[in-house]
Amino acid sequence: MKIAVLPGDGIGPEIVTQALRVLDVFRQEGLRIEIEEAPLGGAAYDQYGMPYPPFTQQVCQAADAILLGAVGGPQYDKLDRPMRPERGLLAIRRDLGLFANLRPALVFPELENASTLKAEVVRGLDIMIIREQIGDVYFGQPRGMRMNDSGEREAFNTMVYSESEIRRIAHFAFGVAATRSRKKLCSVDKANVLETTEFWREIFTDVSRDYPQVELSHMYIDNAAMQLVRNPRQFDVIATGNLFGDILSDEASMLTGSIGMLATASLSESKKGLYEPGHGSAPEIAGKNIANPLAAILSVAMMLRYSFDNLDAANRIEQAVRRVLAKGYRTADIFEPGSEKVSCSGMGDRVLEEL
Ligand code: NAD
Repeated sequence: MKIAVLPGDGIGPEIVTQALRVLDVFRQEGLRIEIEEAPLGGAAYDQYGMPYPPFTQQVCQAADAILLGAVGGPQYDKLDRPMRPERGLLAIRRDLGLFANLRPALVFPELENASTLKAEVVRGLDIMIIREQIGDVYFGQPRGMRMNDSGEREAFNTMVYSESEIRRIAHFAFGVAATRSRKKLCSVDKANVLETTEFWREIFTDVSRDYPQVELSHMYIDNAAMQLVRNPRQFDVIATGNLFGDILSDEASMLTGSIGMLATASLSESKKGLYEPGHGSAPEIAGKNIANPLAAILSVAMMLRYSFDNLDAANRIEQAVRRVLAKGYRTADIFEPGSEKVSCSGMGDRVLEEL
């Protein structure tokens, strides 16, 4: 297993250190793991003058999977746009063809009071949002500003999906739904208004014939946004395009109330994946050893599951995290009276003990 490790900026390096300690447990047990580190984002700008330098590109292209901390920080906010850390992230996604973004929204029983929704609404929540990530209105051409016929300035973007792009993400989503116990897939669109998503619905319906074990449903985006806060447990897997997925995945992550707990994966057709926490670089707490490393640790579990088909190792990590929470250990962001506060590295220690 060749893994590129990109610690990034802010709390990235400290949470990635804890994630690597977890990976090392499996190396000691005999898994063959090769790790190469490279800078991305602000760290890469500092070292190479660009957010996704050729060295990092080469390390990522040669790897089977990539573990990323987070990028960004206030010191980089005044740079020209192409040099900003977040551009490094967009560049790597496009460069490696990471078309499928998976974002689990899981409520751990011990953290159900962290949600802004009532505990009984989110109890046991386990949703997987699958977002197509390299198409749609974010990449569609033409785009830009122009003068219209009445001499007024206007701005425009193009919402476009080709059949092969929709089929690719549909097969991926059905494949994920088929591995889950409820086997339900809800495709989200706006087929009543937008031709692009009417086509999306047609293709999803067609692909569903190959997956008779998966129950497909369709929902309009406005209703899905509402149902996610009204009754989120009705969902198992949600699949949608880039624009709708951007919004729904953030909404779903808030249902859990704890951004420091959620891992994400971005996958290519060859199963090469980029795994990272759902949160950003939290610059205000960087270097204090108080960040929550669990999202980074759970990113390693996702990596083992989706890029290396090692379900056993992935389950062991997830169970270790659950046991640590059940024993009452909390970093500052999820601390509640009555629990025991631990540091970033202290949380890493607890997870290693459980493993
Ligand atoms: P953020 O996710 O970094 O922080 C939001 C809030 O959550 C802050 O209060 C932060 O302290 C807290 N938080 C986040 N992760 C935490 C953790 N692991 N443990 C404890 N607390 C945690 O979002 P932001 O403040 O909007 O952005 C900060 C920087 O991160 C910006 O430069 C932004 O561009 C960047 N960013 C990067 C990514 C990425 O790398 N994928 C994603 C989002 C934001």
